[in-house]
Amino acid sequence: FTPWEDSTATPFIEFQNVTKRFGDFTAVDNLSLKIYEREFFALLGGSGCGKTTMMRMLAGFETPTEGSILIDGQDMHGVPPYKRPANMMFQSYALFPHMSVEANIAFGLKQDRMSKADIAARVTEMLRLTKLEAFGKRKPHQLSGGQRQRVALARALAKKPKVLLLDEPLGALDRKLREETQFELMNIQEELKTTFLIVTHDQEEAMTVADRIAVMDAGKIMQCATPSEIYETPNSKFVADFIGDINLIEARVVSKSEDGTIMDAPRIGCRIDSSQTTTVSVGDTVWYAMRPEKVRIELGETETPEINQVGAEVWDIAYLGDVSIFHSRVGEAEETSLRSTIANVTRLVERPLTWEDRVTLSWGRDAGVILS
Ligand code: ATP
Repeated sequence: FTPWEDSTATPFIEFQNVTKRFGDFTAVDNLSLKIYEREFFALLGGSGCGKTTMMRMLAGFETPTEGSILIDGQDMHGVPPYKRPANMMFQSYALFPHMSVEANIAFGLKQDRMSKADIAARVTEMLRLTKLEAFGKRKPHQLSGGQRQRVALARALAKKPKVLLLDEPLGALDRKLREETQFELMNIQEELKTTFLIVTHDQEEAMTVADRIAVMDAGKIMQCATPSEIYETPNSKFVADFIGDINLIEARVVSKSEDGTIMDAPRIGCRIDSSQTTTVSVGDTVWYAMRPEKVRIELGETETPEINQVGAEVWDIAYLGDVSIFHSRVGEAEETSLRSTIANVTRLVERPLTWEDRVTLSWGRDAGVILS
């Protein structure tokens, strides 16, 4: 399922050069984006980057200052929220406290004057979909947070919108419930084949649920790609830093050829040979971004630093259960230069590494990406 790779595919949702200003402040900055039918799409970014504003414009609660938004080929300019084929599930859930779960789910259907029999059938279907069969007669205050979240989801889906907009939908849930609910959301989306657009600041959540992610900063999309592309080949220092743990090594380009790029990394005291060809020039300063799990760590310090290899000393170990991250002090570094060194994830060492062990860190030619 990769419609975005097909240049002839018709997008289901399209932002065309959309700008949103609040007074002098630009919340969304000339942004274009295509989302495809049946896609589970995530807008990911820190607080204030403009992701909620994007969603509110799509739902019709805000109007773009410039540009157009199309849903299913139709320009949404002037179309009120209730006439759009999109429905939004709010972070606060906004359930009616005095109504039962069933009545909450049925609310929008009644407003649409659906027949009683059809409403009953649809409510039953939604209760099943969200695993709430046993809770139909309860009031929201008689439910757990996770159950309330599912009622909000069932209500948002009851009208079978073509697009479901989810604004930080799992924000109020604890970690374990969040993870379970992420998988439920994916199953529900799979079953309904509805286009889901989720707004989140939680990168793990975006990586788990989404087919594609747009990473936003200051009203712009920094990168729009699949979770694995964003993780493996971030296109900028910002994205590399924002997603997961990464070593960002400052380096200078020494030479380049069709075969790759050689860099000098004085702060870690070695040369970096990368298989990546790059448009940057010899002499330019770049960042070499390398995930910790791409760095091998071995007991025993190498005598002479080589290409893609340095001696180091373990100075901090973060035990995370499935992995441990080793922070190693590289070379003769003073305290001040420790932070820019190599982190590592490893289980394959002869004996458990411990603090102050002398180690050798090494990596392959395709371990990282060069970012200018
Ligand atoms: P968060 O995760 O904190 O909700 P966000 O990325 O969703 O952040 P938005 O809600 O889209 O951010 O807001 C983007 C920027 O626009 C923020 O700086 C916010 O203060 C500003 N903004 C949003 N709505 C308005 C408004 N109605 N009037 C003025 N400024 C606004």
